[in-house]
Amino acid sequence: MKKIIVLGAGYAGVEAALSLHKKLSREDAVISIIDKNEYHTLLTELHEFAGNRVEEGSVKIDLRDIFKFTKVNIIKDEIQDIDFENQLLKSPENQYDYDYLVIGCGSEPAYFGIEGMKENAFSLWSLEDAKNIKGHIINMFQKASKETDETRRKAYLTFVVGGGGFTGIELIGELIHFANVLSKEYGISRKEVSLVIVEAADKILTVLHQSLIDKSMKYLEKNKVQILTNSPIIQVTKDRLKTKADKIIDTHTVIWTGGVKVNSFIEKLELPQAERGRGRIEVNQHTQSTKYSNVFLVGDNSFFIGANQRPLPLMVEPAIQTGDTAAHNIVNLMRNKPLIQCKPKLHGTMVSIGRKYAVADNMGMRTSGFAAMLIKHVVNIHYQFGVGGFEQVIHYLKHQFVYDRKDDSMIKRNLTAQSYTIFLVFMRIYLGYKWLMQGAQKINEGWLSNVVIYAQRVAANLPEGITNPSPAANSATEAAQKGMNLIGEHTPEWYIWFTQSLVVPNAIWFQRMIVLIEVGLGIAFITGTFTFVAALISIGMNLNFALSTGLYDLWYLVTSVACLAGAGRAFGIDHYLMPWLMRQWRYFIRNRRVKIRI
Ligand code: NAD
Repeated sequence: MKKIIVLGAGYAGVEAALSLHKKLSREDAVISIIDKNEYHTLLTELHEFAGNRVEEGSVKIDLRDIFKFTKVNIIKDEIQDIDFENQLLKSPENQYDYDYLVIGCGSEPAYFGIEGMKENAFSLWSLEDAKNIKGHIINMFQKASKETDETRRKAYLTFVVGGGGFTGIELIGELIHFANVLSKEYGISRKEVSLVIVEAADKILTVLHQSLIDKSMKYLEKNKVQILTNSPIIQVTKDRLKTKADKIIDTHTVIWTGGVKVNSFIEKLELPQAERGRGRIEVNQHTQSTKYSNVFLVGDNSFFIGANQRPLPLMVEPAIQTGDTAAHNIVNLMRNKPLIQCKPKLHGTMVSIGRKYAVADNMGMRTSGFAAMLIKHVVNIHYQFGVGGFEQVIHYLKHQFVYDRKDDSMIKRNLTAQSYTIFLVFMRIYLGYKWLMQGAQKINEGWLSNVVIYAQRVAANLPEGITNPSPAANSATEAAQKGMNLIGEHTPEWYIWFTQSLVVPNAIWFQRMIVLIEVGLGIAFITGTFTFVAALISIGMNLNFALSTGLYDLWYLVTSVACLAGAGRAFGIDHYLMPWLMRQWRYFIRNRRVKIRI
């Protein structure tokens, strides 16, 4: 049996391991993923944690969650050397042999030899980095609030981001909100706080279209971010920064986002590095090392030249695509099939500038504001669904939209206020009882066997010029039929047409369906089973009544709305059913077959 090791659980490594799991059976190979952390970091979201938009749990996913129900073994270890000739990975305490190897160890900050940068600046390339930035910023506000010397106070409250690329702009965007919150918390005027972007080039976000750069600049300036372009940083000390034009900024906070290079561990490996690749490894069109045919390099570690003769950018999409190609090709090697080419398809870029603004360029479709933010959320949800299923998506949505933040608006706070489901239990059960009684009453009235419903216009919706039959005649007909008129005074014309041409001609069928739904709703609410769906149907039924006979009792409607709030989760079957269903779904997605997981 072959041994396959994926080194690095970043975007590319996780994709490669999941893809290998899908393509191979347990008898074909042992698949292992090795990482120094036991979680996958959502690197593209780190700025949100650094700027206090979300909690730590939002930017990492436990590897055990990702690889649940797969045959991928997770190994937590830090590899320090690779012996390619003997096919061995070495950590200080262990050795791992392999037949095929996928390397996806990612990048690290590049300091370009700038004096004092590595020693004195923060970087934003790991969870730890983000945590440090957040803690330090809070600390600076604390210090400033106690400092009476104006110059020293100003230095504490000056926050500089070095580099106006994607990372830098996404981070400063978060700092806008964070600074507002901390200013209030520490009783500091927001005017005293300086947020500065220092960029070497003549513009920020250089790879974006000029219209999006302009919009981003406008948004940043509106939010009091100072943008210094044509200002390469040449020196950083503990309390100041110097640019090439000798501009000095007194600050204790420089966050360096001026560029990345390949991970130093990869640089040390005896693999041919690509020219102009900043240490990235030369690969062929199959993402295979040009030196060892059983070694594949993915994501930021591979210098892959695309169809346009340009290297792939260091972004999530190419990482995922190279990871998938590597997995495919390992399987093909094992089966003696020809290797496939990696054909990357890039769908564009999205840059968030805080949580209220974003710009995006997706295959030439340029958007900003709400549309761009929506695209970014959809892309994030799509990715997180792939690696973590429904639970991860719910987790993401809660972190992004539900959990409280200090600068939340009153409306948001009210919309997302949470409470204890236990208090809904009695109402839910009583609603179920009422539906059950409605169904039982209809059964007693013969709804299952006799035609009971009819559709006769009443005064308000008779066409002009036609007079209503007298009330006496009406009630006589009703009495004769002992039935229910589906048309009320306010029934709209289209609904009259619907009842007369579809419902009444199939009366028995519709009656049975109504009874079935009412009894079903009763059971669902009483037992707390699929309560959310039951509540939606219950609302639908009430709207239907409103259109036909008229809604005389709003009670059903309002209690049904309340039951949407997961009312079956407390003392209901949903408490067990929902997590169980998610487990079955995850197993099905990972293995494309059904197997009951307890
Ligand atoms: P980058 O290389 O894209 O940008 C670095 C910026 O720093 C450049 O604008 C550069 O001119 C500037 N710079 C370099 N030296 C400087 C100096 N001495 N003084 C001042 N400025 C200097 O780096 P990044 O923003 O960290 O991005 C790294 C990679 O990650 C990129 O490939 C990027 O596309 C990707 N990324 C993508 C997203 C996204 O898609 N939303 C977000 C973050 C990062």
